[in-house]
Amino acid sequence: MAEAAETKVQYVKGVGPRRAAVLGALGISTVADLLRHYPRRYEDRSRIRPIAEVREGEEETVRGRVLALGTKRLRGGLLLFQAAVGDGSGVALGTWFNQPYLESRFKRGEEVILTGKARRRRGELQILSPEYEVVAPAADDALNTGRIVPVYPLTEGLSQRSMRAIMHACLDRHADAVPDLVPPAVREEAGLPAAAEALREIHFPADPASLERARRRIVFEEFLLMQVAIVLKRRQLAELPGSPKRGGGPLLAAFLSSLPFALTGAQRRALDEIAADMARERPMHRLLQGDVGSGKTVVAVAALLAAIDSGFQGALAAPTEILAEQHWRTLRSLAAALPVEVRLLTAGVPQPEREAALEAARSGRPAILVGTHALMEGEVAFDRLGLVVVDEQHRFGVVQRARLRGKGRNPDVLVMTATPIPRTLALTLYGDLDVSVLDEMPPGRGTVVTRRVPPGAIGKAYDFIRREASAGRQAYIVYPLVDESERLPLGAARAMAERLSREHFPGLRVGLVHGRMRREERESVMTAFREGRVHVLVATSVIEVGLDVPNACVMLVEHAERFGLAQLHQMRGRIGRGRERSYFLLDGSPATEEAARRLRALEETADGFRIAEIDLEIRGPGEFFSGRQHGAAALRLARLDRDGEVLRAARTAAERIADRDRWLRDPAHRLLRRELIRNYSGRFLLGTIG
Ligand code: ADP
Ligand code: MG
Repeated sequence: MAEAAETKVQYVKGVGPRRAAVLGALGISTVADLLRHYPRRYEDRSRIRPIAEVREGEEETVRGRVLALGTKRLRGGLLLFQAAVGDGSGVALGTWFNQPYLESRFKRGEEVILTGKARRRRGELQILSPEYEVVAPAADDALNTGRIVPVYPLTEGLSQRSMRAIMHACLDRHADAVPDLVPPAVREEAGLPAAAEALREIHFPADPASLERARRRIVFEEFLLMQVAIVLKRRQLAELPGSPKRGGGPLLAAFLSSLPFALTGAQRRALDEIAADMARERPMHRLLQGDVGSGKTVVAVAALLAAIDSGFQGALAAPTEILAEQHWRTLRSLAAALPVEVRLLTAGVPQPEREAALEAARSGRPAILVGTHALMEGEVAFDRLGLVVVDEQHRFGVVQRARLRGKGRNPDVLVMTATPIPRTLALTLYGDLDVSVLDEMPPGRGTVVTRRVPPGAIGKAYDFIRREASAGRQAYIVYPLVDESERLPLGAARAMAERLSREHFPGLRVGLVHGRMRREERESVMTAFREGRVHVLVATSVIEVGLDVPNACVMLVEHAERFGLAQLHQMRGRIGRGRERSYFLLDGSPATEEAARRLRALEETADGFRIAEIDLEIRGPGEFFSGRQHGAAALRLARLDRDGEVLRAARTAAERIADRDRWLRDPAHRLLRRELIRNYSGRFLLGTIG
């Protein structure tokens, strides 16, 4: 029965080979694919309005015959196309701008339906840029009129009408055979309609209430599948044999007492949670989440030393060489007086140092290796790897993290992220991890003022930087690289740095860093900046993470519209690290409403969680998922920014299923199990952890 859903779409009534090819362009090859091709919106045509009764300023639907058509060019060059439509009660003008091709889509005498915003201009009733549809003569039109009508994502060669007809035929024949993944008990408890009913109603809803019920059911199912996978994985991880670390902590104690500051309450809590995890028989899988500057590194170092205390080794992975180098330097100075070897391993490390790092890992001596992806390579072997810390974990892939973990026997894992995540997203992205949050900033930070540079006023921003620098402070000027692999922009950055130095900052030292510099060269610029010998650092986005120079109090971002919101927030985290008031200046001309919204968000708030929420609203969840296996692909209807309540219900149901039936052997869970194996290659059930 379930196999009916795998029937090729070609065999659906009204499809055939030619249409099947067209549907293929939409990613539809089976009946199941087709039924999951949900409408992108709906039109309520149960409320077609006589033209005489159309209300200005409202979204209205009218139906009538095309009386006349015409295109003209307005002053200013805009092309105006209008179709006059009459229904006996009056005439409305369908009005479109700069879409001259529409003229060929309409014919005089045809019956059409228009939906759009109505307005009156010089006595004419216009419907602006309406959605339109030609009504077929004589056909039975129950699917297309007089009801709530689905509007589908389409492709060339397919009309809304034919899509509706195909979908309707498909539902008639196959809806009842679609497997219902939601176990009956869960469905009943959550008050959800059955799969077949939900499918019928999502495509051809009887009324808004049943549409909402159908949507809720489908969203629940999408979340349930993902959450069962996450919950099972989490439980599996929790059953692995680990290596408890109960070393008593002389290194850790020495480290903490050597710090020139006291831990914040949040740092102390996080460290307690981590230490408790590490002392357990089971390996730790914990996320340490905290806004830029909240002090994650200190916590990570403490955890690494706790591992060393118990006779293990540690690894700290960072996504870029600059960040890895910075961590290495921090660790070395923090642990300078302690009997532990801290070694750097990146692609840029010279051979002798590299050999020394590899040897330290192999030998089992108390050592911490800090590095980039280079840590995950085959030749790296640890004798006693006890803790893996991954900074900015979202910049690594699943496979890379697994490879690093594989260098020890179920080592403890601490992943860190400075990208704050809205709660709902955390439950999907990190549902398999325990979470510690640093929700408190270290004391004594100056405020950061964020301002847009008005158009044409970039010179004033440079003047400001010059004055700050003359007063002994330092500044960043950030440039976007159009394309990492392109040559030109780098040259442009270099030329820019020289020009800035000559024209705007005479007498000051201007340095340049970018991602493709040789390591020694970059090192020397960074050292000069850290030591205050370089006043203005011109940089590409490579500085977004990790840099810690408290005396730098100004950051000017040029072409700020080219950066993402989270990225800009990260960059802003580079300043405001000292006691001085800092300035984050955004130059650029956003070309889209989205870009403008990003820049406004930065002016409005400094709260990383609020920023993350706005980012989610703007971008949708897709990008947050890159590198995670519980892909957004499984979420078609679900919206993380809106469906938090359904997500939590699905999580609860998933926990309950896992409690009762760990291996999904119950016949009521058979379909769920099959779907999980299909979507997650069985990873969660078969014991291989990704
Ligand atoms: P994150 O990685 O979370 O962005 P860092 O670990 O780089 O933050 O810490 C930012 C700065 O704050 C560093 O200079 C660090 O030494 C300092 N710092 C960390 N914890 C504290 C604290 N409890 N009190 C004062 N300064 C701290
Ligand atoms: Mg950091």
